[in-house]
Amino acid sequence: IIKVENLHKSYKMGNNALHVLKGIDLDIKAGEMVSIMGSSGSGKSTLLNILGILDTYDRGNYYLDNIKIEKMNETKAARFRNKYIGFVFQSFNLISFKNAMENVALPLYYKNISRKKRNQMAMEMLDRMGLKEWANHLPAELSGGQKQRIAIARALISNPKVILADEPTGALDTQTSYEVMNILQEVNKMGITVIIVTHENDIAHRTQRIIRLRDGIIGENITNGDFQPITDNEIFTNN
Ligand code: ATP
Ligand code: MG
Repeated sequence: IIKVENLHKSYKMGNNALHVLKGIDLDIKAGEMVSIMGSSGSGKSTLLNILGILDTYDRGNYYLDNIKIEKMNETKAARFRNKYIGFVFQSFNLISFKNAMENVALPLYYKNISRKKRNQMAMEMLDRMGLKEWANHLPAELSGGQKQRIAIARALISNPKVILADEPTGALDTQTSYEVMNILQEVNKMGITVIIVTHENDIAHRTQRIIRLRDGIIGENITNGDFQPITDNEIFTNN
């Protein structure tokens, strides 16, 4: 579903340019769950932002669902993102003055769906996440794990083909990270491609493939022999 060929990206800094991605080749099949690792500053977020059409690249090719992604205006980029991509971030990126239900419903705002229907869909998604009773709460009233589950619900609401998660467990303790990874594995089982940027080996080992960025290229691309798909049918945790 994602194919990247010889992708380059530099950031201009005054008269200099910082060459971050120096020829990335990547092929991620629909339904895969992969992690991207690499030291701080190696370009993981840069790559993820390009894959999510939040940022542009300088050179190379990027195909999303066999469509060549080139420089486009923001309206068109937003349309692509809405159709294909759900984002999950380390810092949750919830809107602080909107309650859980409103946060989850937000991506639907740009679709032609009535408010009543949007709220109903958001409630169903919250229910699947075991978070229905938190629907009227503001993000500040929720734990980190609950906030990240809300963020995942929001990412799922527009029925994306790909979830891009940039250090989704970076702000969470071990137990909560484990629960969030359970959810992401379940999301993957629904057939959604999941790409997770992480620093943590434990997280990476819960994905099927580990890709390591090094010196601006893919330094390592290994199928994860330790990978254990989850077996229990407890879809989303219930607290
Ligand atoms: P971390 O693990 O710390 O999140 P990362 O692998 O995600 O790091 P990036 O955020 O992709 O790294 O950054 C790669 C390099 O590009 C870094 O040196 C960073 O300072 C630089 N960089 C990132 N975004 C910008 C920007 N908007 N303008 C200029 N330089 C940037
Ligand atoms: Mg980063």
